[in-house]
Amino acid sequence: MPPMGGPMGRGYLTEEEKANKPKVTLPLLKRIFSYLLPYWKQMSIVLGCIVLSSVLGLLPSVLTGRIIDEGLLGQNMKMLIILIVASLGVSLGSNLIQVGESYLNNWIAQHITFDIRNKMFQHLQKMSQGFFTSNNQGDIITRMTSDISGVERVITSTFTSILSNSITLICAVVIMYRENWILATVGVLVIPLFTIPTRWAGKTRWTLTREAQECNDNINGILNETLSVSGQLLVKLFGKEEYEYDRYEKANKQMIGLHIKESMAGRWFRVVINTFSSVGPMLLYLVGGILMMKYDADLSVGDITVLVALLGRMYGPVNSLLNIQVEWIRSMALFTRIFEYFDMPVEIQNAEDAVTPAKAEGNVEFRNVEFSYTPERKILKDINFTLKSGNSIAIVGPSGSGKSTIINLIPRLYDVCGGQVTFDGVDVRKLDLDFLRENIGIVSQETYLFNGTIRDNLLYAKPDATEEELIEACKKANIYEFVQNQEKGLDAVVGNRGLKLSGGEKQRISIARVLLKNPALFIFDEATSALDSISESKIQEAINPIIESRTSILIAHRLSTILAADEILVIKDGVIAERGVHSELVKAGGTYTELYETQFGKAFAEEKEAEKE
Ligand code: ATP
Repeated sequence: MPPMGGPMGRGYLTEEEKANKPKVTLPLLKRIFSYLLPYWKQMSIVLGCIVLSSVLGLLPSVLTGRIIDEGLLGQNMKMLIILIVASLGVSLGSNLIQVGESYLNNWIAQHITFDIRNKMFQHLQKMSQGFFTSNNQGDIITRMTSDISGVERVITSTFTSILSNSITLICAVVIMYRENWILATVGVLVIPLFTIPTRWAGKTRWTLTREAQECNDNINGILNETLSVSGQLLVKLFGKEEYEYDRYEKANKQMIGLHIKESMAGRWFRVVINTFSSVGPMLLYLVGGILMMKYDADLSVGDITVLVALLGRMYGPVNSLLNIQVEWIRSMALFTRIFEYFDMPVEIQNAEDAVTPAKAEGNVEFRNVEFSYTPERKILKDINFTLKSGNSIAIVGPSGSGKSTIINLIPRLYDVCGGQVTFDGVDVRKLDLDFLRENIGIVSQETYLFNGTIRDNLLYAKPDATEEELIEACKKANIYEFVQNQEKGLDAVVGNRGLKLSGGEKQRISIARVLLKNPALFIFDEATSALDSISESKIQEAINPIIESRTSILIAHRLSTILAADEILVIKDGVIAERGVHSELVKAGGTYTELYETQFGKAFAEEKEAEKE
């Protein structure tokens, strides 16, 4: 039974693949080769094994002829046994060699992908924040997982299959022609008889498989949407259970229809292929018979059997080799995609002459800073301010005015487009990146906790922290009471991304995490999202002492934190519109007064009310 045109769904290029065919250039091949080179010794052994097993694999077919002629027809028992044992031995040997080859091949493929994966991970970690905001997370993960696994497949299957199939085919044709050129020619001519229907079958099945895949994606989409935490919430709140069930059932029904069609298409084609593939041997027997009986007395039954057996051995290799072009294009596309990622420049990296001061104090200065995420739109214009060690600055302003952007420039999540940001008097671009980031602690608006325990999340900042240090940090961050109330204390699990905790609790844990880090400069991006007043005041109680005693910058939305700062910067449309202290600014009648009256004033009045009570 000839194979169905290679592994399912891999025999034909999609329109998209055809449109994006990679250019195979010498540098590309050299680059691929550079990943294989470290394993050249193992590869040479694999090569030897492939040649040997392909040749040995054909020997039993040749020996069959002698078994018939010399053993059976010659009635030579001894010869018959020797030939049978030899044939079995050769077959066993060839298979054993294949086992060894397959082990070694997998070993090489695993090691090469291990190298590529690690290199890719390292490279991605160096990419700037801009890369992660502008690229789809799914794409990045696909490149890390399926694309690199594809490389493994290329090495274990594509390369080896090209080699072993070519060798088998060449040897089979040579032996056939040596046996009898007329029969060999008949054999070669009948090859299209089985290759054409096989390819035809493959193509139809492939179309069905693709349809099934699309349907499957659709089902996965529905499952992802409806069975996720937030999706389920939406379904429940809008009472859409029935609607979602109908949608799911419909897609599911379509799927079973396609699966049945797919399996049946396979069955029908097999009938056609089986019929066609028996035409070849029959034709050889017929022509062989005519030759033997009428023209060529030397041609034996054994010779004809050898030719028929060899023809049978050609089905697989011919089909595989017909798919090689597709496999080749796909492999090259895979490598090209991976290399594209490797070639993306690392925008933010250590300067060659980066300096690492002995100690950080936390002084920050912005000098004529300009910044834009995209060339069309300037986000920050001529920002100038100085933060002296021990002091604190509150940044306020309307949403989208550029506050978060300002603080992103300090730990070099982005680099300035003009002017400079200095840390302790040194341009941040000239400072050692590790040093810079070690000395800055940020509590961002969107607190990110890893799935693990509270302790794991805290230790991320300081792996060698003692129990006392952890407790101290929790106390300062006003979260200790909460921790104590947990059955498992610090070992309570926070859930996927901290989903088991409230917004306020997460914030306070992340404050404790930054406190453990104990940086020279604290940066707080106060959450705008509404928290209840108890959570708010707990966070405030945690943050305010830090603002008052440590070097800090905070994006403030609440009056009490603003009042705790030494200087207030009011940002509007990317410029510092006003600066000073609360009492002056509130009287100035500008943006700050407006903000005070709309946002902080309300909170302020509430705070006063609460104090009175
Ligand atoms: P908020 O108080 O709402 O957090 P903000 O003052 O902190 O706002 P920024 O986050 O600094 O504002 O954003 C300033 C502007 O830059 C916004 O208009 C925003 O749309 C844009 N912006 C922010 N991040 C990016 C990005 N990665 N790529 C392109 N534009 C961005």
